[in-house]
Amino acid sequence: MATTPPPEHLREEVESVLIGEKEIAARVRELAADIERDFIEQDLLVVALLTGTVPFLADLIRNITLPLRLDFMGVSSYGNNTAPGELVFTKELKLEARNRDVLLVDDILDTGKTLRAVIDKLDALQPRSLRTCVMLEKKSRRSEKITADYVGFDVPDTFVVGYGLDYAEKYRNLPFIGELKPEVYS
Ligand code: 5GP
Ligand code: MG
Repeated sequence: MATTPPPEHLREEVESVLIGEKEIAARVRELAADIERDFIEQDLLVVALLTGTVPFLADLIRNITLPLRLDFMGVSSYGNNTAPGELVFTKELKLEARNRDVLLVDDILDTGKTLRAVIDKLDALQPRSLRTCVMLEKKSRRSEKITADYVGFDVPDTFVVGYGLDYAEKYRNLPFIGELKPEVYS
């Protein structure tokens, strides 16, 4: 993955830009086109996980011209800031998922524990179909047998921030995906 230096004001904290704004925008349009093709004539309910999906979700849905409904689920892992701990649901769906064609959107698929828990919860609501879309995945750390139907980018096994992803709730507003300097989180 070719990297570039971060903007001047972030050089103390961010090691490099892994995926730049233009590259993200182009890939999001491709994902939206794939989703449009697969969900045509379906009753699309987009379920996004808070909070890391927000910028990605906003860009993605504006590139989808199909009618859709949008809802959120909250899920947090209580652990330290870079290693996932126990999962707790902090917000439940408001809309009906039964008999809908659900597209579950998350920021990053890492071990797969988050998506496993959310998929099990959604399955119990009896959607007509359930597909998953993640902005990023780290293939090397998967411990659950899970693959996403739509994946934006593969990233190496390093801690990434930006475009929704945080470290201790910071960096979500960066317009690019960058590698955090290890000294920030160690
Ligand atoms: P999983 O349950 O698949 O192990 O992890 C998914 C969650 O862990 C993501 O939704 C995200 O909150 C967090 N996560 C995993 N890797 C990273 C990373 O590199 N950076 C950030 N900011 N969060 C990550
Ligand atoms: Mg998350």
